[in-house]
Amino acid sequence: MSGNAVRMQAIRDVEAYVPPAHSFDESEAPGEVFGENVFSKAVMQKRLPKSVYKSVISTIEKGASLDPLVADAVASAMKDWALEKGATHYAHVFYPLTGLTAEKHDSFFEPTGDGSALAEFAGKTLVQGEPDASSFPNGGLRNTFEARGYTGWDVTSPAYVLENPNGNTLCIPTVFVSMTGEALDHKTPLLRSQQAMGEHAERILALFGHTDIEKVVSFCGPEQEYFLVDRHFFLARPDLMNAGRTLFGTKPPKGQEFDDHYFGAIPERVLGFMMDTERELFKLGIPAKTRHNEVAPGQFEIAPMFERGNIAADHQQLLMTTFKTIAKKHGMEILFHEKPFQGVNGSGKHVNFSLGNSELGSLLVPGDNPHDNAQFLVFCAAVIRAVHKYAGLLRASVASATNDHRLGANEAPPAIISIFLGDQLADIFEQIAQGPAKSSKGKGTMVIGVDTLPHLPTDPGDRNRTSPFAFTGNRFEFRAPGSMQTVSGPMVTINTIMADSLDYVATALEEAVASGTDFDEAVQALLTEIITEHGAVVFNGDGYADAWPIEAEKRGLANLKTTLDALPELITPEALELFSKYKVFNEREMHSRYEIGLEQYALTIGVEARLTLEMGTTIVLPAAVRHQTEVAQNVVALKAAGVEPDTAPLDEVSAAVAALRSSLASLKTSLASDDGHSALAEAQHAATLLPAMLAVRAAADSLEEIVADDLWPLPTYQEMLFVL
Ligand code: ADP
Ligand code: MG
Repeated sequence: MSGNAVRMQAIRDVEAYVPPAHSFDESEAPGEVFGENVFSKAVMQKRLPKSVYKSVISTIEKGASLDPLVADAVASAMKDWALEKGATHYAHVFYPLTGLTAEKHDSFFEPTGDGSALAEFAGKTLVQGEPDASSFPNGGLRNTFEARGYTGWDVTSPAYVLENPNGNTLCIPTVFVSMTGEALDHKTPLLRSQQAMGEHAERILALFGHTDIEKVVSFCGPEQEYFLVDRHFFLARPDLMNAGRTLFGTKPPKGQEFDDHYFGAIPERVLGFMMDTERELFKLGIPAKTRHNEVAPGQFEIAPMFERGNIAADHQQLLMTTFKTIAKKHGMEILFHEKPFQGVNGSGKHVNFSLGNSELGSLLVPGDNPHDNAQFLVFCAAVIRAVHKYAGLLRASVASATNDHRLGANEAPPAIISIFLGDQLADIFEQIAQGPAKSSKGKGTMVIGVDTLPHLPTDPGDRNRTSPFAFTGNRFEFRAPGSMQTVSGPMVTINTIMADSLDYVATALEEAVASGTDFDEAVQALLTEIITEHGAVVFNGDGYADAWPIEAEKRGLANLKTTLDALPELITPEALELFSKYKVFNEREMHSRYEIGLEQYALTIGVEARLTLEMGTTIVLPAAVRHQTEVAQNVVALKAAGVEPDTAPLDEVSAAVAALRSSLASLKTSLASDDGHSALAEAQHAATLLPAMLAVRAAADSLEEIVADDLWPLPTYQEMLFVL
């Protein structure tokens, strides 16, 4: 097809769209299907012998190590349950460092020798698997001769049955490690970091009188933003298909300026898609809660209810896979890229973080009485210290080639990591910074003791959407993570830097108490010290303002603008020490994460650069030349007819065509240049391709504005964003 035939066909197909038949029984209440396909605690309680059930629950809730003897009993019950649900296969599901979800499927059925087959699933098969690790990134952790990797059952994340029209599969969430036990995945460090954080949080709680409690864990509520485009347009855009974002395209005349999309009515087809996905998520026990339009046309958001960090991370991955499948069913493609459309709002994945357990709830809730306040302020101060001290690591945890397009682009938090506390809380910490003697609130001097602490508002009332790390009443919201990322990376970092802060706080308070200092006074002194040392990270102002980077620099806060600026934070001596101290990553593992970060960066940009070259050369340039020829022919025809032609249009298109040709030539040269041999050299080389790609884009986009519409081959922003 030539000219705009593909576009026209796509538009006709969009118009002819018929919604898919209902895939569910409408009489069924959503509550009934919730968790239907999950091997939940309730299912286990029903199907497991009492002692086995108790043992599994104490592993989940108290963090007790798994009794190997129970594995066989659990495996057998799990198998029977899965077979009843129509499963024929089981899969260890793991999360390699590609950021995707990986599964290795095996059949339950083993031939018995007499021509029949028997369903087998032993404890050891549940507990451990051995997928080939050679095709997953490992950053030098695995020798090529030892390709094996091991998956290990994560008892704390429930198994589930994944439905497919051709047969169901029992999915078992697992960690993925090398032969030497080093982490090759996102789950292993998440579990390790959660354990470290919980341990030190419990020391502090003990000082406040909470002993013999359930394990403290981190909670995560991930908000996922995404775009939907009609699949016909998607298939006509090689850049969307291969890079997940448009490498060409001018902004439509009407963009998001009218603010008419945010929270607007959801288009019917999109609503159908949302209902369908939510139903599937419900079956998998994923508590999908809010859904709404986002700022940009074609952009939406889903936020499930928060859960234990490690379950939230698994569910988030499952949510993304489910969305992809169901979008296709509704004739659309989902875009999880952080910046699919230049000049249009990008997508993030806000990570709402708190810590606590089911007895105490979130430890970041100010509470109703002063004693709770003191405890809350201690945990809050620990967050302030962690974010200030390890801002570089937080920044590195969200670093990727794709998120670079979004951070700091005046629609997402800047690359400078700071904390928003809200006026009330900021005021309280300002008073604490003055020490107990100076400031007064209410009746007497403000001492952070049980008697005189002010009541804190449970709802801070105000919101700040420009802050990367904002207190929102009962949690902190880390807004820098990108929409394509797994939440594990940021959660591992938050847990680990919190472990360090909580350890510091617990040690200081324990020592003070041991030396006879009054507990309230010790708390007061510690809070004053922390806010004095680390208060510079608190910023309640406008993070998008031009003045902020200047102010931040004065405060000594880093502004690590790109991935290449941020990744080296992973291998500073402080970072290596931190992660090894809390047994989250040893030095080799940290280096491997750094290497993989660089590799992924280079790979992503490499693909984009080659796509830019190819599309520019084979799609945009030919269209432009056709248009140029038409204009030239028009000049000739006018002359022949004795009319003095205006050659300005010909000059304009010729200049743009020349610019496109020369920028394509430079990109080709840059691509061919030697990119060195280390991961760092390759990543640095990739960074130099970005301006060359932008030059091609600028020329191509200027052509889009002058080439006759019937010759333009690529679906436009207008079409992709507004035709749904
Ligand atoms: P907003 O758009 O105001 O940020 P949303 O309702 O879109 O709010 O998303 C808030 C997210 O924060 C949800 O996933 C919610 O479950 C989660 N959340 C609420 N309380 C907590 C908490 N204590 N810890 C972690 N996450 C929480
Ligand atoms: Mg939010």
